[in-house]
Amino acid sequence: MTETVISNEALAELASSFSGALLREGDDGYEQARMVWNGQIDRRPALIARCSGVQDVRAAVRCGVQHGLDIAVRSGAHAAQGYGTWDGALVIDLSPMKAIDVDPSSQTARAQAGLTWGEFDKATQEHGLAVTGGRFSTTGIAGLTLGSGSGWLERRCGLTSDSLLSAEVVTAAGDLLTASKDENPDLLWGLKGGGGNFGIVTSFTYHLHAIGPMIYGGMMVSLPDRAPATLRFLRDYMANAPDDLGLGAAFVSAPPEPFVPEEMHFAPVFGVIVCWTGEVEEGERVLAPIREVARPVMDMVQPMPYVALQSMLDGGGPHGTRAYMKAEFLPGLGEEVIEKLVRHGASRPGPMAQLLLEPMGGAIARVDTSETALGVRDAPWAYHALALWQEPDEATESAHVGWARELARDLAPDTTSGVYLNFTSDVGDERVRDMYGPERYAKLVALKDRHDPNNVFHLNQNIRPSSA
Ligand SMILES: Cc1cc2nc3c(=O)[nH]c(=O)nc-3n(C[C@H](O)[C@H](O)[C@H](O)COP(=O)(O)OP(=O)(O)OC[C@H]3O[C@@H](n4cnc5c(N)ncnc54)[C@H](O)[C@@H]3O)c2cc1C
Repeated sequence: MTETVISNEALAELASSFSGALLREGDDGYEQARMVWNGQIDRRPALIARCSGVQDVRAAVRCGVQHGLDIAVRSGAHAAQGYGTWDGALVIDLSPMKAIDVDPSSQTARAQAGLTWGEFDKATQEHGLAVTGGRFSTTGIAGLTLGSGSGWLERRCGLTSDSLLSAEVVTAAGDLLTASKDENPDLLWGLKGGGGNFGIVTSFTYHLHAIGPMIYGGMMVSLPDRAPATLRFLRDYMANAPDDLGLGAAFVSAPPEPFVPEEMHFAPVFGVIVCWTGEVEEGERVLAPIREVARPVMDMVQPMPYVALQSMLDGGGPHGTRAYMKAEFLPGLGEEVIEKLVRHGASRPGPMAQLLLEPMGGAIARVDTSETALGVRDAPWAYHALALWQEPDEATESAHVGWARELARDLAPDTTSGVYLNFTSDVGDERVRDMYGPERYAKLVALKDRHDPNNVFHLNQNIRPSSA
């Protein structure tokens, strides 16, 4: 059992100004509340403060700082590195904070940080509006937005953080600040990719885009031998494709679902996932050449609700999945890169492991690099090696982690730096500096010095203040 580092006096003091639940070891609900999405992470916080509103967040921050506790911040709990739970720490959990106010006339939504993308999309889609959201509906809006925000709509609407208009932030001093283009604009800049380094965001206001409620999308499933030709084709086609075409290409295993012929259950396949946000007829025309080269054995691309596409992949990574992830930007898909991708796609260590290729470009590439904390805008492709498994034994873990690491080693000469840190299990100063580059990192350090000089918010992809 972890030593409890919060005294009864400190707890009583916090409880006097806290409306949500405070959970310590032994309390009902503690065992469940200490777990995050990644089932590999097994940590025992000293206290989990489940916040019901902004005042709870402020009280928890002040308590943590006053009593010298490590503070871990959690919203959707999907960080692969498991930053949302920490041995001996005070976990400030915003997941109960789920208010959302959609204003169709101004095409904006003000959303509390505890919402998942499924909850957010449901509210905005009632008005035919959306912002780029995560590809799993269970992911939290908070960590995803602060770390960049990639999704099927990104080629049309940009990254999620590109649509962030303002945020309410509780600082390390427990104060509440607004970050917008008029107030603390440099803080807003830092929140667009700088992660949870500058404070705890209690609510986000987004500009919404007219999308849905129906789109033309889904997955085409091909046999793996179609992968090289399809990737070669997509390499050229996506370079000039309309922004309305969001896409992913994936080495996966066919799920044991009723819509899959039984003889194909768990068989390795090559999938092309599509999100077309324009007119259906136009989408059919745009997809025709992809269909021709991919020769799908199952073609499930059809008119469907945007929210259905957003939850289509959820079954591939339920809460408690064990995970290790690698990702990088690829400046191109040359013959040698395609050969490597096909080889590693074929050697996936288990049916849940996935190798995804995502074309970027479109609206992502049109944002000036000075506008957000994210440096790289012009990468045409990203790969995501998602080693996912469920068995708790070490052999399975080692096979999965080994596969992702070997793939990353093999592809290293073909990548460019700067991949957004939300995508990977990698941690450490070097990785963080590499992602932002020296100039941008220096600007982020200056921002950190102003808003969190003592590095209260350090359980994250950390930007260290100059004093550290
Ligand atoms: C199954 C799965 C699918 C994913 N799909 C995508 C995808 O399609 N696109 C994509 O871009 N990413 C994706 N990701 C990565 C995801 O964006 C990151 O894991 C992100 O951090 C998750 O945010 P969260 O709020 O759920 O996580 P949490 O673990 O709660 O938070 C992650 C970190 O963000 C910071 N943070 C969280 N909440 C706050 C807050 N309110 N204020 C300040 N800082 C905060 C903290 O540093 C925290 O440690 C996926 C991850 C998983 C596991």
